[in-house]
Amino acid sequence: MTKSRALAFAAIVLSLPAAALAADAPADHDVSVLHCARLVDPVAGKLLGATTVIVADGRIKELRSGTVDGKPYEDAAHQAGASYRQIELADATCMPGLIDSHAHLTVQFSKTTYSDQFRLNPADYAILGTLYARRTLLAGFTTVRNLGDSHNESIALRNAINAGTVPGPRIFSAGQFVGTTGGHADQTDGYRWDLQGDPGPKDGIINSPDDAWKAVRQHYKDGADMIKIMPSGGVLDESASADNSQMTLEEIKAVVAAAHDYGFTVAAHAHGAEAIRRAVLGGVDSIEHGTFMNDEDIKLMKEHGTWYVPTIIAGKFAEEKAKEGWYPPQVTAKALQVGPIIQATAGKAYKAGVKIAFGTDAGVYPHGENAKEFEYMVQAGMPPMFVLQAATTHAAELLHKQNDLGQIAVGRQADVIAVPGNPLNDITAMQRVSFVMKGGVVYKEDGKPTL
Ligand SMILES: [Zn+2]
Repeated sequence: MTKSRALAFAAIVLSLPAAALAADAPADHDVSVLHCARLVDPVAGKLLGATTVIVADGRIKELRSGTVDGKPYEDAAHQAGASYRQIELADATCMPGLIDSHAHLTVQFSKTTYSDQFRLNPADYAILGTLYARRTLLAGFTTVRNLGDSHNESIALRNAINAGTVPGPRIFSAGQFVGTTGGHADQTDGYRWDLQGDPGPKDGIINSPDDAWKAVRQHYKDGADMIKIMPSGGVLDESASADNSQMTLEEIKAVVAAAHDYGFTVAAHAHGAEAIRRAVLGGVDSIEHGTFMNDEDIKLMKEHGTWYVPTIIAGKFAEEKAKEGWYPPQVTAKALQVGPIIQATAGKAYKAGVKIAFGTDAGVYPHGENAKEFEYMVQAGMPPMFVLQAATTHAAELLHKQNDLGQIAVGRQADVIAVPGNPLNDITAMQRVSFVMKGGVVYKEDGKPTL
């Protein structure tokens, strides 16, 4: 292609309207009237009967009890030159779009994950991320916290979704993990010595409070929304311990202080009791996994108002795959140690009154199966309404987005999903999401994707 033809081509592409570039986005409707047979109100903790939800310009405009005639809204929409549609959700239960507080949208573990890292490039993970983001959205999750990636590719994915280029949930990205040398965040664990290099703060690896400040500021520069730290060992890296302490209290405090300068929240991956204690004292917003949480940790979390994100499904899935020989020997031993314990810890924390937000560690298990976590939480002793609140109002509060997300109320984002029947009677209904609207755009209807 000659230079002048290339420039002409570029001019044509640039002059296309945004909607044409976002060719895979379903048609937007300026005004939608939803007739829900039932509606979960997580703020009141109540299941309401038939409810009509009126959506305009991507936001909830009005809520009316009963099945209200849509004709006046249709006429008003047409007069204003807006498009209109009415959606019948008969025998379905509507609720706010779900929030997964712990996902990794750009990776999905398999038998080949440990060798894939020597073959795949950041672009490969980004492309896979578009597939996993779509599956997550179609499972009813309209928002996720992306708690760590290897190359900041979840930031690019977030931007593409926000621009309407690819479908997916609203992402709040932690960018790269932050941890210490040889710890759970160190991508070179288990490598041959000459391949290990010496990752530093720019790669999320810190070894002092000064490094912590640099790593957080690098995240700000990279466009992250929040910070994810690794104060304890983890299961799926090739080091020896799942639960040892890998950050000092001073390092954690430095991360939190730096994060607060930039308006970031801090999520802490922690299995071990001592690591949980340090993270809570250091001022983090949430403890992820929390497997070996002890009574002192629980007491401190309640005192500090620290959130707990259990991720039971990840523990169970990794334990199952360890038995099938998916992982290297070090990882297998840790998966067998952690897997059987997380669910009981979640139940104990709930009984003690620790604040719980829904999160699954999606990517450890296949994306799109997130809603199995609801069933595991109920098995652990949490009431069905509580687990729905954990994935809506609670998770929105953890994100500091409670005024925008997590409830169907006037002025909020029009993130509405529906499941057949009544999930309070059968929580497995959450695994059969039939309708998904995000920001007023319908992505799934009658159980089928619209794109
Ligand atoms: Zn994780």
